[in-house]
Amino acid sequence: MPYDESVPPTPRRRPLIAVAVLAAVCLSAAGCGAGDDGDGGTDARPGPGRSGTASVPPSASASPSRSAPAPGKKSASPTTPSASASGPAKKISGPLSGKTVVIDPGHNPNNRLHTREINRQVDIGTGHKECDTTGTSTNSGYAEARFTLDVSHRLRDLLAKQGAEVLLTYDNDRSYGPCVDERARIGNKAKADAVVSVHADGSAVGNRGFHVILPAAVRGGAADTSKIVGPSRDLGTRIAGLFVRATGSAPSNYIGGNTGLDTRKDLGGLNLSTVPKVFIECGNMRDPKDAALLTSPDWRQKAAQGIADGISSYLKG
Ligand code: ZN
Repeated sequence: MPYDESVPPTPRRRPLIAVAVLAAVCLSAAGCGAGDDGDGGTDARPGPGRSGTASVPPSASASPSRSAPAPGKKSASPTTPSASASGPAKKISGPLSGKTVVIDPGHNPNNRLHTREINRQVDIGTGHKECDTTGTSTNSGYAEARFTLDVSHRLRDLLAKQGAEVLLTYDNDRSYGPCVDERARIGNKAKADAVVSVHADGSAVGNRGFHVILPAAVRGGAADTSKIVGPSRDLGTRIAGLFVRATGSAPSNYIGGNTGLDTRKDLGGLNLSTVPKVFIECGNMRDPKDAALLTSPDWRQKAAQGIADGISSYLKG
């Protein structure tokens, strides 16, 4: 869910508009169909102001996890920070050779055990936000952080098979976090060609579908998104259109006006990015119908395929 938790009520709009918009979106990619999606951002909407805090790093240095395509392969220990959770990447030649993609699995399954650490405030340029949040879960207890990591692994494998170098911001290799500012820095340091932060939302029953969150134009402190707003919109638009095609899901009926797109200026992970980056909220974990999709491995594979298709489309231009 967004690092904020408050999803403002948004009036429903006619689905036909969304279909039309997404159809337009799909002009750049072959044959998009209509469908649904869910979203899952992980930053916070503006909430009650919090004052600055500690300056203790959440854990060891931010070492991205390089990943080779290895479906089902387990990564490093869940609590020990380490740089190479999935071992050395195997070079595969393909249409995405030479491209670097950073995948940011939202939250961390162990964040709930480290509330003090994840609640500390970090500088996001335009203000301060919590280091990280616990994320949401389905009513049956399937945690968003498990969902995001699972989809991220599937996405990693799909992209690596096309030759991309893929890094995860973490891979079960640290006890909490990374903080949102560190998640952004990992993509920046990698000089990623594209970054996607994977989430699922926690909204009211009846609120369904996915949405992609785009960075707004912001400037302040270390935040300056002027150079990434345009390419991030291109990236996000392609992902939204191809997510529909791959999953058959519809764009959110409660945010983004059925376009499947939302723009935010309050997310540290976007504000601090210097490379094209979007979030995707794949669905609403609190809605039973969306939850049935999100808990399905088959659907998660489709979700990963849709995101991979969008990234691939963007990278190929
Ligand atoms: Zn989230």
